[in-house]
Parts: sequence; structure tokens; C-alpha cells
Amino acid sequence: MSLPRARFWLAPSLLIAAAAYFLIFWPMCDPHPAPLPSIGVLVLHDMKIYPSPDAPPIERGSVIVARGIITAVGPNLPIPAHAAVLWCPNCVVMAGFWNAHVHFTEPKWDFAAFKSAATLNAELSDMITSRGFTTVVDAGSDPRLTLSLRRRIEHGELSGPKIYTAGTALYPPHGVPYYVKNTLPFYLLWFIPQPSTPTEAAEIEAYNIDRGADLLKLFTGSYIARGNVEPMPIAIAAAAVRLAHQHGQLAYSHPSNVAGTRVAIDSGVDVLAHAPDSTSGVDSSILDALVAHHMAMIPTLKMFATTVTTDPAYLDPIYAEVRGFHARAGQLLFGTDVGYMTDYATDGEFQGLARSGLTARDMLRMLTTAPAQRFGVANRKGLIAQNYLGDLTVLDADPFDDIAAFSRVRWTIRSGRVIYARR
Ligand SMILES: [Zn+2]
Repeated sequence: MSLPRARFWLAPSLLIAAAAYFLIFWPMCDPHPAPLPSIGVLVLHDMKIYPSPDAPPIERGSVIVARGIITAVGPNLPIPAHAAVLWCPNCVVMAGFWNAHVHFTEPKWDFAAFKSAATLNAELSDMITSRGFTTVVDAGSDPRLTLSLRRRIEHGELSGPKIYTAGTALYPPHGVPYYVKNTLPFYLLWFIPQPSTPTEAAEIEAYNIDRGADLLKLFTGSYIARGNVEPMPIAIAAAAVRLAHQHGQLAYSHPSNVAGTRVAIDSGVDVLAHAPDSTSGVDSSILDALVAHHMAMIPTLKMFATTVTTDPAYLDPIYAEVRGFHARAGQLLFGTDVGYMTDYATDGEFQGLARSGLTARDMLRMLTTAPAQRFGVANRKGLIAQNYLGDLTVLDADPFDDIAAFSRVRWTIRSGRVIYARR
């Protein structure tokens, strides 16, 4: 190339390189940010406290959080000098809620690395923190968006939850779900991972982990058309799960039907991200196998009711599955699939769980201790106890009287910082 021609290309090349850096690589920098240390003392004063799902509540007690950590819980605690005090005699305090199934895939999160804090805080509040969630699990999104949110939250620019992310989900060969296909421009479909060999599956998962993923998400059964589920070949699923486990990560699966559930069981998946909603063949032997393999389930009942149909012929067998899994002491986690489901209100999920026979105590476990155990952080999250993280959800009524109160959030507190306050 002659010198003038080289010069001609120099400026556009630099421009393209700069654009690629800012649009692709910069949003994914610092994938595991250290959280900003919490300072100061926060006191939740004169409230009803549920220290754990299994302990009796403390009537008119206090929780003291210093530097992000709970230092005292009980009745008649003296308020330290210079503490910030939240006083609410009719309020109820529970450990910070988890939503174990969310997505950051709606257009509102596009360019999350660059949008104003005010814009993103309003969206985070609407979808997550106003619902009481202090920890969420992103079960598959564009990592540029999730990692940008996570970085800006941990750096203190945004008020948001602790985010675990699966990065991009893995699909069966030619197995992109019809509802994803219908919403994405065709060129983005080329970037959806559909490994055709076990080696390729492991390579994609290794790349995901390198890019900051904390868990694996597989479509072990994918609705390639309405009523038509394509299962993932077992060897492909098993290779990805093996790699995730080698890195100490959990594997989530979207099972869809009995074949997808069998692949999840046989490949070593840890968590069903939904109850299988095509329930034909999901019998007691399948539920027994799920429990025998220590798998957890996130029912996502409201999502089925709002995005598929409210026909009881469809929903009742799903409620029966959840009831059967629970009766076998299977571990249930609370999750709603918001992001995919655009109605963020949580009350419908609690109603669905009640229809499946769960009590307020069961639901509190699903929101707190069960996910903390499953994600290996039960020594610092899930309870209101000394030396635990100051993650707290404050409601203005008691869900043990009426489960509707789970959705009546007054304050959401993460590591001793108020990340949502109802006006
Ligand atoms: Zn989902």
C-alpha cells in the first residue's frame, strides 16, 4: 500500500478500533468489581424482626448495621450515637430478598455503560429494588449490559442489588427459542451460542467464565416453536456443566418438558430455572430424581400465567409439580424471570406459590436462606444475625398474616445502605 493510501485508511481504522473498544470491550472491563466499603451505622428501630424463616419473630426489636455488617439484633438495644435511624413501629424486617431468575435484556438496558445514573437508578428501582431484592441472579443477558450495571453498582454510581450473572446462555444446535428469534434482529442470532460438540460447549463456557460469568445457563429443552421442544444432546450439556463445576459454579437449566428435564438431571445441572411447563410425562419418578440429585427449582409461576395462558388446564398441572417437588423436600428458590416478563410486580408469584400449597414460611425460605445456601454464601447472607451482611428488606405489614405483604416494600437495604425507600 502506498503511503497516501495508508494515510487515507489510518483515520477510519482508528475510529473503528475506538468504537469497538468503547462499545464492546470497555463495558465488560472489571467483571468482578470489589464493592465500595460501607461506612457509618444504620439502625432499624422498633420493628418486628424475622431473624430466620425458622425462628419466632422478635416483636419491637432493632437491627444495628455498622460498616455494612449486622452487629446486633434484639429488643431494647441502645441506639449508637451518630447512627442513621429508620423508625417504623408497624414495619417487618426480613433478610434481604433474592430473585434467583432475572434478565437485563430489555432495550432500556442498552448502553448501560454510558447511560445516566438517574435513568438507570429509576429502572433498577422499578424492576428490582422496589420489590425488595438485594441479590439477583441474571440467568442470561448480554454481558456488556449486566457487567456494566454490576460495575457501576459496586463502584457506588448506581443503587442496585448484588448481581450474579450467567453471561450468555447456551442453546441446543439449531435450538434458539422461537420467542427469542422473534425479538432479535437476524444478525444478533449469529452470536447466540449453539454448541454442536461437547468440546465447543466447554470452550464457550470457558469464554463466558473469562468474561465474568458466575454460573452456567443451559437450554436443556428449547421451545423452537410453540409446543415443539428441542432437547440439548446430553454430551453437550454434560461438558458445559462439568466445566462450570470445575470452576465452582452452579449450572441452571431451562427444561421446558420431560426430555429437557431428563437432560438436566443426567448432565448434572443444579437448578431448574423454571418448573417444566409442558407437564406431560413429568411424573413422580421425575420429581424423585430431581430431589435425589439435590436439584433446586425456581417455579416462575406468574411468568407462565402472564406470558402463556391463564387456562387452568395449563397452570394447574404446573402448580401440582411444584407441590409434589415441595412435598419431597425439594429446594425451591424464588425467581420471577423479570426482564423476559415485563410486568415486574411480585404479588402474582406469591399467589401462584400459595396455590401450590406453600406457606409464608416456605416463601421466606425461598427468598432468603435457600438461595444463600445454594450459592454458597449461607455464612453471611440469608439470616438477620450478628456478623451477617446488612442486607435487609423492610415491609410495612406482616406476610405471615397475609402473603400480599411480601410485595409491600418500604425500604430495601444492601450492606447497610438504603438502596430503595418508598416515598
Ligand atoms: Zn429467563
